[in-house]
Amino acid sequence: MSAPELIRDPREWQRRCREARQAGRRIALVPTMGYLHDGHLSLMREARRRAGADGLALATIFVNPTQFGPQEDLSRYPRDLSGDLAKCGQAGVDRVLAPEASAVYHPLHESWVDVTSVSQGLCGASRPGHFRGVATVVMKLLHLSHPDVALFGEKDWQQLQVIRAMVRDLDLDVEIAGMPIIREQDGLAMSSRNAYLSAEERVRALSLSRALFEAGARARGGERRAAALQAGARAALEGAGVRVDYVEVVQPETLRPVAEAAPGSRMLVAGFVGRTRLIDNVGLP
Ligand code: AMP
Repeated sequence: MSAPELIRDPREWQRRCREARQAGRRIALVPTMGYLHDGHLSLMREARRRAGADGLALATIFVNPTQFGPQEDLSRYPRDLSGDLAKCGQAGVDRVLAPEASAVYHPLHESWVDVTSVSQGLCGASRPGHFRGVATVVMKLLHLSHPDVALFGEKDWQQLQVIRAMVRDLDLDVEIAGMPIIREQDGLAMSSRNAYLSAEERVRALSLSRALFEAGARARGGERRAAALQAGARAALEGAGVRVDYVEVVQPETLRPVAEAAPGSRMLVAGFVGRTRLIDNVGLP
């Protein structure tokens, strides 16, 4: 497939999306921060499929500064625009918006989207303001693109629930599609941040998915107590040298902690492998 068209100016992007919409073309949108891997590409291929032959499959590549804390990895976040464009083309993406931050945020920017309850706890507790930045930029990208459907990965489970709550509460006319986590062959969830890992850290990082799969196996075996499942996973992570941020079994939509795992409950983990913060999650049977 051919290379996608690269658009830098959000206003031009918005105008072109409006034209496509007025022409009756279906629009599917995949927002990303770039440094694309097969997880991103699975979303893009699905966007291509959902847009249909006459529709538009769109992707955005934007390392959104407002979702990074002052001590986080904004400046060193990996970037590879030309490689990303080639991958987008192979996945069937028609157009890519890759704007400068100064084109996305007005110097006087002062409006924010705050999804309150579901943004608290888990990643929201250790990354204050993160989900406010995420919700705000996703709202802006939805307004710029006016898609029929926007696709997000279950890899970022809490983010997906924040976006669903925002769409529900603010009457946004868009379908949100959640897509399964794509993993490396050994189970590690694909992430742009995996590029930070040394060979030794890469081995330790495997403990996240292993701990989750092990908890899933225990739940299948009849262990329903969240505390027991969490303790087992935490011990496995710490044993592998991961500095645990959280291990929680939660209700999948509200993300409230549960005492007993029920079908659909989700186990979410976050931890530091060296300086790199990784997250993963799994549905409990
Ligand atoms: P990011 O570039 O990290 O902001 O991710 C962009 C989109 O890709 C988000 O909706 C993520 O949830 C999704 N994504 C990232 N990693 C994966 C993965 N391993 N499997 C599926 N989706 C993913």
